[in-house]
Amino acid sequence: MSIKCYECQCKLRLCRPGGSISNANTSDWNRSMYCYQCQETSKNVACVIQGFCGKDEQVAEFQDLLIYILKGIAQIAAARKDEAGSIPALNWEVAHSLLMTAPNANFDAEKIQQQMRKMISLRNELRTAADLDDWHDAATFELDGGKSGLYAKEHMLYKASRVGVLATRDEELRSFRETILYGIKGIAAFLHQASATGKEDDQICAFLYEAMAATLDDTLSLDDLMMLVEKTGRYGLRAMALLDEAYTSRYGNPEITEVQRGVRNNPAILVSGHHLDDLEQLLEQTQGTGVDVYTHGEMLAAHYYPWFKKYDHLVGNYGDSWRKQAGQFRSFRGPILFTSGCMIPPRQEGIGDRVFTTGFAGYPGCFHIASDVRGKKDFSALIRLAQSLPVPDEIESGTITGGFARNQLESWGSRLAEAVKSGAIRKIIVMAGCDGRMKSREYYTEFAGKLPADTVILAAGCVKYRFNKLVLGDISGIPRFMDAGQINDCYAIIAVVLKLKKILGVDDINKLPIVYNIAWYAPHAIIVWLALLSLGVKDIHIGPTWPAFITRSLARILTERYRIAGIHSVNEDIAVLMTDNA
Ligand code: SF4
Repeated sequence: MSIKCYECQCKLRLCRPGGSISNANTSDWNRSMYCYQCQETSKNVACVIQGFCGKDEQVAEFQDLLIYILKGIAQIAAARKDEAGSIPALNWEVAHSLLMTAPNANFDAEKIQQQMRKMISLRNELRTAADLDDWHDAATFELDGGKSGLYAKEHMLYKASRVGVLATRDEELRSFRETILYGIKGIAAFLHQASATGKEDDQICAFLYEAMAATLDDTLSLDDLMMLVEKTGRYGLRAMALLDEAYTSRYGNPEITEVQRGVRNNPAILVSGHHLDDLEQLLEQTQGTGVDVYTHGEMLAAHYYPWFKKYDHLVGNYGDSWRKQAGQFRSFRGPILFTSGCMIPPRQEGIGDRVFTTGFAGYPGCFHIASDVRGKKDFSALIRLAQSLPVPDEIESGTITGGFARNQLESWGSRLAEAVKSGAIRKIIVMAGCDGRMKSREYYTEFAGKLPADTVILAAGCVKYRFNKLVLGDISGIPRFMDAGQINDCYAIIAVVLKLKKILGVDDINKLPIVYNIAWYAPHAIIVWLALLSLGVKDIHIGPTWPAFITRSLARILTERYRIAGIHSVNEDIAVLMTDNA
């Protein structure tokens, strides 16, 4: 059956993006896909036909529509004022939905459609309990348009084409709105992880609704939105603190740990992503099965927590960051579990039959493990498959060291301060953020390797895989490379920065001998960046490319107010960063 146009019932769909009317008008407004939320966006402008990440046009459109529904929910939730953010089930579903739209997280159009329907239903229930005369269309529109499902998918695509990124036609306004939205996605990631381990914060959720609702409000000025960008950073910091509390209260304070890089001679499961709660459940269920478990990418940080050391079958970390997953997953030979994003389409890489997803991650054709109402997940299919597959090929050996998280770094504060005062440490370099696939990211390996011997690196997030295997030595027993953990563990770095400010008695955080070279890829790094700005940190270098969504006015404000800069050649940047910022 050919699908008719939802609006006029013609079969030509001329009014749809991609139809001849749209093609006749080649302006960007008619694009049905326009995604520029990640660092690998096409030509550093936007992905408009197919995502570099592998996302197709339909998935992009559904994600846009899901975001629009969430904005409608946000308007309703924000209208409930004192009660905004106080419904845990709604908060969870909103964070979950936001993350289904994050880069490299969910490629499954069916799953996104299902989530849209669920969120419309939640939205409508919520609206009956709220009071506002003038609801935005996002808070009221219906998916089926009265046609009881016959044209539902067509209607979704039609609607999506009118509510995506380019629905905000003013480029400047769009830049502010999208920056807030990507910051919100970063916050949602931290909330989602914290919530899965039982920690909630209604006020962060209330802000999340306030900020998303503001992106629908045409009465707000750019100044109003700038205040919201900065407020997003402050709540990002609070969300990092919440997750730090969630993980350390459940799993203990991370310890300095040597993590094995080699393999044992047992069948095994590889766990990727950020969710420690999923790893915990998997480790419980694999005990006594003869199946080992390894971490990949951001999950490396699990080894640093005392809780996870009790599992003998949590053997080590296999491979590197997400960018190398295709080859490393092939050599791993066993099943792989994605607990969050950072997924390269596995079917294209010929490993899809071994890939499982859970949480907000999804890929069509890959087995998805859902949780029951109590948050429990049944990993038995994954374990059975592991038992039937060969053991992993060893791709490296030795260890990597990490675990310089908040408690550790704070306890090292006096030692670092002494080394700074004595001149043994000239600069502390914060190299946090994400890894990615661009060749230009070799910059970070070269940068770390060329830093003078009187510098130390504080790292968090998967950018560290660009330099965590370099032999950098130590300065009087202080390692020149210290890994705090996952991207949210930038909170640990911020904690030690604030501690050094106090010990060294400076009145301005920018007078510390600390410089920031942040690698971004996804909203996680954007919210870390905004959190640093909210603390008044200046002269942050961000790379490898400038975020495509930050244009004109916002770029000007950020460079004037915070002296934000990009990156250049390694030698130039080291020369600039090593000059006194005090
Ligand atoms: Fe392009 Fe990144 Fe969006 Fe994927 S997530 S479509 S690579 S901008």
